Amino acid sequence: KMFNIIQELRGNVRVFARIRPFLPNDGVDEGAAPAVEQRSEFALKINGREGKEHKFNFDKVFPPSVSQEKVFEEVSEFVQSALDGYNVCLFSYGQTGSGKTHTMQGSGVGQMRGIIPRAIQQVGAYKTSLEKDGWTYKMQVSFLEIYNETIKDLLREGEHGDKPKHEIKVDGSGRRYVTELVMKDMDPNCDEDVEAVMRQAAKHRSVASTDMNAVSSRSHSVFTLHLTASNAKLKQTLRGKLNLVDLAGSERIERSGATGQRAKEAVSINKSLSSLTTVFNAIGNKSSHVPFRDSKLTYLLQPSLSGDGKTLMMVNLSPTEESFGESLCSLRFASAVN
Ligand code: ADP
Ligand code: MG
Repeated sequence: KMFNIIQELRGNVRVFARIRPFLPNDGVDEGAAPAVEQRSEFALKINGREGKEHKFNFDKVFPPSVSQEKVFEEVSEFVQSALDGYNVCLFSYGQTGSGKTHTMQGSGVGQMRGIIPRAIQQVGAYKTSLEKDGWTYKMQVSFLEIYNETIKDLLREGEHGDKPKHEIKVDGSGRRYVTELVMKDMDPNCDEDVEAVMRQAAKHRSVASTDMNAVSSRSHSVFTLHLTASNAKLKQTLRGKLNLVDLAGSERIERSGATGQRAKEAVSINKSLSSLTTVFNAIGNKSSHVPFRDSKLTYLLQPSLSGDGKTLMMVNLSPTEESFGESLCSLRFASAVN
């Protein structure tokens, strides 16, 4: 309830920032100072050249030492909202190599698991408790990728034959859906089901995670839990949706050295990302016109971004000095909506 009250006062987008630790690949000496530092639970600073500091405030700031478990603790109220029948979207934003996939999917099993498997686990616990109270609970998952403004179904088996064309449509009750999309029934309490779907997700998102030209870093992946709780006696049905989005790398195209045709391609590939920026700015400015229809990503996720939907933007940051420019851009993007 508290969440709903705060929601009314502050709109429906929250912004968290997470600074990843230095990694061996960063090539930084032990004990080097990070370019981005947490100042408090809600503040961070980024150190520019010539000693210039930029300070930012967010709804939450996680230091490099934060555990996956702690991050999920702070995220679980959003998952609960989806269980309660809301449209919810969690975004992982940041330049390639900043930790988006680590945050969303995680690396491996156990403690390193990210938001997706932990969210499924929370759904499973809720399902068990609702079923004890006489409810029927159903979870379906879908998993798609938006690349160059084209939707691809990542759960469709087999590479041969005609691939269906996917469009975003609105049904009779105003719910948005994607045509021809595989919706897989899944038991959130079945470890094998969860592992299988995580393997499928990992196949698409962790390929060449540091290669800025890899398709995986230039496409958006949207993993969705479709949740339906129904109670025949109470004649009640709750339909919630949890979208878990691993966004394309936010780096500007100059960094990846694209020129000519390639640069043009990069611009259209990132149409959804720039449109998301425009949408966030419009929401931040309380503008009366928010251009959701301008891209596939914003149109698909509009119900989470507007009305009584709920959105969390998790901004991932690299601590390296060479990432200063990209980190500053990410922070400015994130504070526009905050
Ligand atoms: P992105 O998806 O933004 O390109 P990744 O999530 O693939 O970035 O992260 C890049 C690398 O850094 C991966 O090897 C990942 O395991 C590692 N990494 C990211 N965040 C953390 C973290 N908080 N702790 C440990 N390793 C991390
Ligand atoms: Mg990634």
